[in-house]
Amino acid sequence: MPPISAEKYAELERRVLAAIDRDAAELTEISLTIHANPELQFVERKAAALLTSKLEARGFEVQRGVAELETAFVGYAGDNDGPTIGIVAEYDALRGLGHACGHNLIGTAALGAAWAINEVIAELPGRVRMIGTPAEEGGGGKVLMVNRGVFKGVDAAMMFHPLDTNLLSTPFLASNRIKLEFFGRASHAAASPELGINALDAVIQTYNAVNALRQHLRSDVRIHGVITNGGQAANIVPEYASAEFSVRAADRPYSNETLAKFVRCAEAAAMATGATLKYTVEEASRYDDLDSNPIMQRLFGEKLTRLGIDYLDKPNGQGSGSTDMGNVSQVVPSIHPFLKIAETGVACHTNGFREAAASPEGQTAMLNAARAMALTTLDLLAKPDLLRETKAAFAARHPNV
Ligand SMILES: [Zn+2]
Repeated sequence: MPPISAEKYAELERRVLAAIDRDAAELTEISLTIHANPELQFVERKAAALLTSKLEARGFEVQRGVAELETAFVGYAGDNDGPTIGIVAEYDALRGLGHACGHNLIGTAALGAAWAINEVIAELPGRVRMIGTPAEEGGGGKVLMVNRGVFKGVDAAMMFHPLDTNLLSTPFLASNRIKLEFFGRASHAAASPELGINALDAVIQTYNAVNALRQHLRSDVRIHGVITNGGQAANIVPEYASAEFSVRAADRPYSNETLAKFVRCAEAAAMATGATLKYTVEEASRYDDLDSNPIMQRLFGEKLTRLGIDYLDKPNGQGSGSTDMGNVSQVVPSIHPFLKIAETGVACHTNGFREAAASPEGQTAMLNAARAMALTTLDLLAKPDLLRETKAAFAARHPNV
């Protein structure tokens, strides 16, 4: 394909934006439909069916149930020769809170961007791949999809997330979730305590040891947990106790190092009490830190400016959680910017944020996200130098990928 002239590029850009204007009402309806039908991780059947049917309606080649996950999907458009740009969708909700993280907007913005690029894809080298990723809220859909090869062959990937501010990136933490189980021996807690082995004490000793450890960890570490089983009755020495913890840090090596220290605390507690320890770290719970690609981030920022949207490059000091987009960002150049849907201070995972995800402001942000992602994708496909720079920046930070 010959290089794309400046005039041609301007024409493609106009057509991409016109497509989103034309589709705005339909996209809004899709977003509100997903919002009204919240589905939990890995059973987002209505949302996945809706989004895939909308891709097929515009001629995308769709594969459902990818990576052995029923509600994961990919939809392709464009030419096999040339680069592939991934646009990532999420669509899971929170237990008891519905779409209080606004993933209805994420899924629909990805669809809007994929549709818009499809309008001009025949005139571009390469393809667009919409990637439907279930279970971001703790299920680790993208962790499994990355590990099972779904992102192989993707040259760059992007998604958007709603927030209470416009923000290009924030430092998401590398995380491990660990389940501890202690097995002791039951006994009458008053009549024969000497015969018992107290599994709950092992959990308490783990807490104490971890709290002593905190002084000697980097300040970016977060360790937090709950006791999921603390015994059955006050007059029975607990023979079984369990707890779940998240162990997070700014990068994967330090989060792993901290996890190893955490396990030693639990082992010490088992030794001290005589209980037996079993611990489990699920593969899907290992969210990597997010490496936001600087070139893609700059491009996305330029698109926001073009759309008349002010934004921050990085947050004003608030803390951060973890996202499974982090795992994508460790294997493919990626961005995970945010657009404002709520008043400042209205946090994700609250009733107020759920309302914002169905509000007119929410839909406006979703459409702007679709516009900015579509224009960023257009840049990466139409201007090969930009994709080269993007990949070079990634390679410099990930020499082993
Ligand atoms: Zn979210």
